[in-house]
Amino acid sequence: MFTTLFTHAACLDHDTGLGHPECSDRLRAVLAALETEEFHMLERQEAPRATVEQLLRAHPQAHIDRVMAAIPAADHAGIDGDTVVSPGSGEAALRAAGAVVAAVDSVASGQSRNAFCAVRPPGHHAEREKPMGFCLFNNAAVGAYHARAAHGLQRVAVVDFDVHHGNGTQDIFQFDPDMLYCSTHQSPLYPGTGDAGEKGEYGNCVNAPLPAMAGSPEFRHAMTHVILPAIDHFRPDLLIISAGFDAHSRDPMASLHLIDDDFVWATRKLGELARTHCGARIVSVLEGGYNLRALASASAAHVRELMYC
Ligand SMILES: [Zn+2]
Repeated sequence: MFTTLFTHAACLDHDTGLGHPECSDRLRAVLAALETEEFHMLERQEAPRATVEQLLRAHPQAHIDRVMAAIPAADHAGIDGDTVVSPGSGEAALRAAGAVVAAVDSVASGQSRNAFCAVRPPGHHAEREKPMGFCLFNNAAVGAYHARAAHGLQRVAVVDFDVHHGNGTQDIFQFDPDMLYCSTHQSPLYPGTGDAGEKGEYGNCVNAPLPAMAGSPEFRHAMTHVILPAIDHFRPDLLIISAGFDAHSRDPMASLHLIDDDFVWATRKLGELARTHCGARIVSVLEGGYNLRALASASAAHVRELMYC
């Protein structure tokens, strides 16, 4: 069994306009880093489109309609001040969510041991009824609900080490005791949610906010004492990683100071838990990361570790 990379060229056609940090060069940088010799063992698959039925598990029809209605025939349109769409954005968003669905199918069926979805737009800020923060559909949540509906994987844990709190995933999971959302993130920072006291209706949201300037020791302490024990206690049937790399010390959007080895370490620890509880099944999906060189090296380090998980 291998690690499978899911991506689609359509994800490059989501054009957010000149100077927007969530640009297609991000995905180009990740894919280029995964083209080197050491990644020749990666299985590579084209992401399918998510179906409406799959999206409806995480979002109401009105949300899907709103996103699709916002896609312009030419140029750009703004859903909010940060979230910009272009003619290619609808197809990109369907492929991004569809990548996670296909990755879940692949690991649930045993075709892959684990998978990485190199996609954009990202997803973790997309709430059940609201696209926001560069995100249209919540790719991780769509994948989590697909695991339950299509494969009977009842309990899914999403671990989010993006520097921003995944308010969208928390919003979608907060009343579902079989879905666990765990996040380390800088606080205070956009989107302003993710206090440690936000625990979800069933204690199924676990937030470990970190202050600006925190680095490896604080991150690893939060993972070791808050996040990893919560996952261990939850005993998931599948682990999904919201893999944002904007907590990297070189990232311009925030002020945490992680290095590539922190992402490697976190991946290894999550791999150990996945082996203990869920047959090593991990689906990782790209979220943020805005320094192209840091994004490329950190995502490659993460995928390299997945290949050894
Ligand atoms: Zn982020």
